[in-house]
Amino acid sequence: MPIIRVALDVPLSTLFDYVVEENTEVIFGQRVLVPFGRKQVLGVVMERAEQSDLSAARLKAVTQVLDDVPPLPQEMLTLLRFCSDYYHHPLGMTVLSALPARLRDTEPIKLKQALDYTLSAAGRALDIETLPKRRVVQQRILQALREAPMSGAQLRSLSPSAPAALKVLLEAGWVELVDRSQNPLSNSLPQAGERTETARHIFNGAHTLTPEQQQAVDAVTQQTGYACFLLHGITGSGKTEIYVHLMHEMLQRGGQVLLLVPEINLTPQLEHYFRSRFPDVELVSLHSGLADGERALNWLKAQSGAARIVLGTRLSVFTPLPKLSLILVDEEHDSSFKQQDGLRYSARDVAIFRANQRGVPIVLGSATPSLESWFNAKSGRYQLLQLKQRAVQPATLPVVRCMDISQLPLEEGMSQPLLAAIETCLQRQEQSLIFINRRGFAPVLMCTSCGWLSECKHCAGKLVLHQKDRSLRCHHCGAQQRVPHACPTCGDADLKPVGFGTQRLEESLQARFPQARILRVDRDSTRNKGAWNAMRKQIHDGAADILIGTQMLAKGHDFPNLTLVGVVSPDGALYSADFRASEKLFAQLTQVGGRAGRADKAGEVIVQTAFPNHPLFQALRAHDYEIWAQTLLAERQMAGFPPYVYQALLSAESQQESDAFNFLKQARSMALELHMPVEVYGVVPAAMPRRANHHRAQLLVQSDKRKALGEFLRVWKPGLDGLPAGKLRWVLDVDPMEF
Ligand code: ADP
Ligand code: ZN
Ligand code: ZN
Repeated sequence: MPIIRVALDVPLSTLFDYVVEENTEVIFGQRVLVPFGRKQVLGVVMERAEQSDLSAARLKAVTQVLDDVPPLPQEMLTLLRFCSDYYHHPLGMTVLSALPARLRDTEPIKLKQALDYTLSAAGRALDIETLPKRRVVQQRILQALREAPMSGAQLRSLSPSAPAALKVLLEAGWVELVDRSQNPLSNSLPQAGERTETARHIFNGAHTLTPEQQQAVDAVTQQTGYACFLLHGITGSGKTEIYVHLMHEMLQRGGQVLLLVPEINLTPQLEHYFRSRFPDVELVSLHSGLADGERALNWLKAQSGAARIVLGTRLSVFTPLPKLSLILVDEEHDSSFKQQDGLRYSARDVAIFRANQRGVPIVLGSATPSLESWFNAKSGRYQLLQLKQRAVQPATLPVVRCMDISQLPLEEGMSQPLLAAIETCLQRQEQSLIFINRRGFAPVLMCTSCGWLSECKHCAGKLVLHQKDRSLRCHHCGAQQRVPHACPTCGDADLKPVGFGTQRLEESLQARFPQARILRVDRDSTRNKGAWNAMRKQIHDGAADILIGTQMLAKGHDFPNLTLVGVVSPDGALYSADFRASEKLFAQLTQVGGRAGRADKAGEVIVQTAFPNHPLFQALRAHDYEIWAQTLLAERQMAGFPPYVYQALLSAESQQESDAFNFLKQARSMALELHMPVEVYGVVPAAMPRRANHHRAQLLVQSDKRKALGEFLRVWKPGLDGLPAGKLRWVLDVDPMEF
C-alpha cells in the first residue's frame, strides 16, 4: 500500500507516515484525517514515500481523504517549506498555521456560509422613504439591495453597524438570505493553452496621473517577471492612486492582485475604498477580525481565482492565488508585518520570496521605508521609485517647528507656543491633534517624601496611573490595583503623578479650553467594539475640536479639517536601548505630521523636545527622509546592526531565574563549539527582564551573511531541541524586530 507523509500540527520537525488504500488517489496538498495518539487529527499531504522507518505493523492508515475543497497548490507547499526552513519552525505547524481555522477543523467544510442578503417580496414593496430618518443604515442597506443581492462583507463595508441593522431587517421580514447560486469553487481556472480574454471591468474616478506617478506605474507594468520595487513617496503623494492604477492594469490582463496592509482597524475602510474604485470586481479581505466561516470562504474564493483583488493583513500572504500577477505591500515599514508568536515570519519578506517564486513584480510602498528596504534599494537589489510632490496642488507639506522644552516653561506638559497654536485652531474652527505615545494618566505615581514609586510586583516595570477609575495598572502583565490613599512605605499622603499620558492631557486641555470638544483616542477609549469607528466618524463630521491620541491616530487617515499636530514628549525614543526606536519615531512623526494640512489648508507640526538639534528633528523639519536614512545607516554600519548584519535571537523565560540563564548558557556553549562563522553574544537579561513573574533572558547570534547565519541555525536548532527544557519556554526568532 502506498505511503504518504503528512504535515500535522505537532511541535516536531518531522512529517508523519501513513498508508492509504491501494485505489484511493491522494494528491499533494490535500487535507486528510489521520489517527494520532488517541485522536483523529487533520493533516496535509506533503509527499509520497517509498518506505517508512516505521514497521509495517505500526503504520496506520489514513482515516479519510477530504475532497471538500481543492488541495493546496504545490507552490504553496514550496513556500511553506521555505518558511519552515528559514524561520526554523516545525514544518507541520507552519503548514497548518497557514490554513484558515475552518480548514483546520476535522469537520469537512460545507459552503452553507455562501449566503447572500436579498430583498424579500415585502422588502421590494416597501417605500424606503417611509422609514424613520434616524434609521439611515437600514435605509442604505435596503437601497443597496435594490441593485443586487450582497454578501455580509459587502454590506458591512457600507457601515460598521450593518450587522445590527440587518438583524432588524431580517426580523421585519424585508430582507432574506439566499444561497449564492454561483458556488465560488465552480469558477474554473483557464486550462493550459486556453486563451484568457482581456478582462473588462469598471474603473471609477481615475485621476490623470502626475508624471512622477505615471513613471512609477510604467516601470511596474513594463516589468516582465520578478522585480522588487520600493515606492518611496511623501504622505499624500498619491501612492494609493498608483496601487489602484496597477490593479487596473493587472485586472485587465486577467490577473489577481494581493494587497498587504498593516494590522490596524482600517481594513474595512480600505475595503470600501477599493470596492468603490472597482465596483464590479470581486474583492475579498482577509484579516483576523473576520468570523471563521467568512474567512474560509474568502480564502477559497482567492484559491479558486474568483476573487481578483485580495486585501489583507499579514496572514493573507499565505493565500493560494492561481492568477497572482502583482503583490503590493502598503506601509511596508510597519512592524505589524512581523508576526510575534508561533511562526515568526515577516509578511513583507515572505511576500518578496513569493513574488520571486512566481516571477511577478512586487511593490513596497512607504513614506518612510524600513532601513532594510532602503538599503536594498540603494544597493540596487530593489528598484527605487520616488514621488517627491503631493498629488493635489496646492497641498504642501506642513511646517515643522521644534520647541526647546529645556528653555521653555511647561504647563501641564505643554508649552506656551503649543497652547497658543491650539487656541488659534479653535478660533478658526479647525482641528488639532495632540500626539503622545503613552496611554493612561501618568506613567508612574511617586511619594514626594520618601521617593516610593508605583512598581508592578510581577514585572520589572512601573504601574501606570489611570485617573478615570483611580487604578494603577501594569501595561505589561495587566495587573491592576486601586490607587493607595497613602504611601505604602512611609505613610505620607502626598502621592504625585509623574509624567504625562493621554488622560492627563485630556484633563488639562479640557480645563483650559472648556468649550472645546475633546476626543481621546487610545487603546482604553477604543476598547469597546465599534468605538473607534464611531470616533472616526465624529472626527470626520467635525464633531471634535481637539484629538488626543497615541499612534492609533497616526495611521492612514485623511482628516481634511486638521491643521495642527502637536507632539508631546517624543524624546524617550532617541536614547532607547532598542536600536530601532528612533527609526520608528521618525516614521511615526512623519505619518502623524502627514495628517496635518491636506487639501486646501496649510498644516503645522509643533514638536516639544529637549533636543531640537538632534538629526532626527533636523530631517523632520526638512522633510528629508533620505538624509535621515543615510544618518541611521552610517550609525548602523558603525555599530554592526541590521541591515548590515543578519540576526537571530534566542529568548528564554522561566519562573526560576537560573532556569532561563542556564538553558541559554548551554545553548551558547553549543554554538561556540560549532566554530561556525557567526558572532555569538553573551547571555543577557531581556529589555523587560521580568514579566508576569517570569525572568527573561536572551542570546543574540549574528552574521554579515544571511547564508552563514542560516547554515549555523540549521545545525544549532536540532541541538537546542535536544536540550532539557524543563520548566522554561524558549523561542528562536529569525530577523527579530523586538528584543
Ligand atoms: P498617499 O497614499 O501617498 O498618502 P493618496 O494616494 O491617498 O496618497 O493621494 C492623496 C490625495 O491625492 C488623495 O485625495 C487622492 O485622491 C489625490 N490624488 C492622488 N493622485 C492624484 C492625481 N494624479 N491627480 C489628482 N489627485 C490625486
Ligand atoms: Zn513615601
Ligand atoms: Zn506587571
